[in-house]
This record gives sequence, structure tokens and C-alpha cells, in this order.
Amino acid sequence: MEQTVIITAGGIGKRMGYDIPKQFIPINGRPILMHTIKKFYQFNEKIQIIVVLPKDQIAIWENLCQEYEFDLKHEVAAGGKERFHSVKSGLNLAKGDLIAVHDAVRPFVSSSVINTCFESAKKDGAAIPVVPVTESLRQLVEDDVSLALDRSKFRLVQTPQCFKRSVLFSAYETPYKSQFTDDASVVEASNYKVQLIEGNPENIKITRPMDLKLAELFLNANE
Ligand code: C5P
Repeated sequence: MEQTVIITAGGIGKRMGYDIPKQFIPINGRPILMHTIKKFYQFNEKIQIIVVLPKDQIAIWENLCQEYEFDLKHEVAAGGKERFHSVKSGLNLAKGDLIAVHDAVRPFVSSSVINTCFESAKKDGAAIPVVPVTESLRQLVEDDVSLALDRSKFRLVQTPQCFKRSVLFSAYETPYKSQFTDDASVVEASNYKVQLIEGNPENIKITRPMDLKLAELFLNANE
């Protein structure tokens, strides 16, 4: 079965202390997005890779690809206002029977998680990687009131989120709702069941300056 990955990227993050978008910040001398693309290419050389970038970043990305002589084959689509619209834009180019949607700033997903996620989606239609919550968890109820929760009942959601083509396309015909924070929530709104598979803990979303330090450590450990 043909596979596609749609890699989504957003604007400039305020938390990183950089004035360039997170996906272009270098780790070990190369933009994060290049590491992420390479991970999917290493998993399957034939996978269709679609990168969805905000319109104003496309020329910058093309320049970066030239500067770093980055030649792994991929297509580029222009992103939309919200993540939902960006994924829809990527879907216009998607040819695969199985489609993964992945955050540009998660370069440390393991090949085995990508594989398990695609296999589960092939069997059951929709699958996402999750990891357990390792810290204690509290819900903020109102000012000065919080409630201890049972962390064993919660999971942190990662990407890639993998789907059969028909499931993802039909779910994305729904009009946009602000509760759609990821693809699983869009698919569930169309009454499809989403399977949870075990993610790998290194598959962090690089969002804080501290994550960049971790990222360098992970890369050095792998190389
Ligand atoms: O906001 P958050 O960081 O949770 O974004 C989740 C994902 O959605 C990221 O991969 C981000 O790059 C992507 N996104 C997008 N289009 C937007 C905004 C966010 O693809 N307009």
C-alpha cells in the first residue's frame, strides 16, 4: 500500500527565543525540518512526503534547501489559518492509501512507531501514538481550587497520526471547529474509532529552549 506523510509546520513560536520559525532552527547544524523529513525517508524511501508551510515561509525553505544541498524528495503545500486548513491543503496533494500527519518539530519519532501506527491504521482505519503521563496531574477548577486526577487514566498524544485514505478524506469534509486540535479529533467527530498505539518517549515536540538541548543530546546519541 502506498504511504504519504503530511508534515505540518506553523509560524514563529514565541517561546523559543528565536526570530525564525521553530522548524528552521538548526540542531547539529541543520534545520529541524530536514531531520524530520529524513526520518520518514529512512523509514520508507518511497513514501510521499508533503511539507505544509505557511505561505511566507516557502521561499525561505527553498533557499535553505539550496544552502544545505538538501535533496530528499518532497512536495510543498501552502498552509492555512489553522492546523485543520493546513492539513486540508496537504490532502490536496496526497496520493497514498495510508496517510500520516506529523508535526514538523518531532524529528525523533522512531521507525518502529511509524510502522506500528501505519499497520494499525491499515487494519482499523485510524491510529495515533500516545505515551503515559509520568508526573502527577491536577485540573484547575477555579481560582484557588484544583483537583488531583488519576494520571493512569490519561495519555499524552504524539504524531504521526495515521489513517486510511478514505477515513481521513471523509472526516476532513466536516466544517472547521475550534475543538479540532489534531487529526484524531477531526476523525472522531465523524464517528470513527481511533486506536492508541505506544509512542516513543524521545518523540518530543520541540517547543521550548530546553527541548533544543534535549534534541542535540538525542541526535548525538544516534549518530
Ligand atoms: O499549535 P500547535 O503547536 O499545537 O500546532 C500543532 C501542529 O499544527 C503543528 O505541527 C503546527 O505546525 C501545525 N499548524 C499548521 N497550520 C497552522 C498552525 C499550526 O499546520 N496554521
